[in-house]
Amino acid sequence: MRLIDLHAHSTASDGVLSPQQLVRFARDCNISVLAITDHDTLEGLPVAGTEADRVGVHLVPGVEITAHVEDLEVHILGHFIDPDDRRLAEFLASSRSDRIKRVHRMVEKLWTLGLPLDVDEVLRPASGPSVGRPHVAQAMIRRGYVASLKEAFDRYLTSGKPGYVERSRIPAALAMRAIKEAGGMTSLAHPGDYGHDEIIPFLVQQGLNGLEVYHPEHNTESLFRYERMRLEYGLLAVGGSDYHGTGGLRSIGLGRPALPEARFEQLLAVHTARAPGNRPGQVKSSIDG
Ligand code: AMP
Ligand code: FE
Ligand code: FE
Ligand code: ZN
Repeated sequence: MRLIDLHAHSTASDGVLSPQQLVRFARDCNISVLAITDHDTLEGLPVAGTEADRVGVHLVPGVEITAHVEDLEVHILGHFIDPDDRRLAEFLASSRSDRIKRVHRMVEKLWTLGLPLDVDEVLRPASGPSVGRPHVAQAMIRRGYVASLKEAFDRYLTSGKPGYVERSRIPAALAMRAIKEAGGMTSLAHPGDYGHDEIIPFLVQQGLNGLEVYHPEHNTESLFRYERMRLEYGLLAVGGSDYHGTGGLRSIGLGRPALPEARFEQLLAVHTARAPGNRPGQVKSSIDG
């Protein structure tokens, strides 16, 4: 039985481990198939691919794009993308420059709340290109304004709180198109987070391929609900730990939960992922629609 984890973050976005460390940690956890799905960046994928070849982990190149369905922020996962796809990289670069502008605006808001921060204190320690609220939260902890990430989010950074700044909105349909043009398959990340299952048929009409059925924030009831929904709408099942390495936050550990092997075989039946020794993101066929 192979352990399969198709959702993990590195320092290229808001994870704690570098892409290489993440791959080695996967090997140490006996994970045979790992997808790195950083927020809005492909930057960790080439080095992760080299390390995966070296240690014999099967790396699925991925990404997690922040997008919107009307007012609702949703995360769209892309798997089996070509990590060298220029158009996808450009699409993500514009989203990241928006992230940097947003950090400036969050810092301004925090100043008005009597919590001065320099933008540099947020951006410089972020080792990767995709900066966001977790990096603002870390800077607040270093300044002693809050004791934990959770406190930073609960008091200041969650939607509706005084330090929150919305990002410019990318329609989910555009994010899905960018993933597909890069040869990837699209799925809706952690559907249980949104409380709006009605977006699923809407996204299916726009070409959604899969649903993240297996996620640490899904209890047994949501797991069965999304398994039923994905069968109803003819979607593939994806899943993984959403590992960030941030001790209990967002995830309980790499490979937990894992994606059942039979589900992964179904994905492979549509896409041929990269085996050790192959080039990252080699895709034999791509899903249309
Ligand atoms: P951003 O992309 O800048 O809006 O930040 C979103 C990221 O912040 C998510 O991917 C999580 O890693 C993290 N996050 C969201 N909500 C919380 C929370 N309540 N506590 C800690 N981290 C959170
Ligand atoms: Fe994250
Ligand atoms: Fe997410
Ligand atoms: Zn994630």
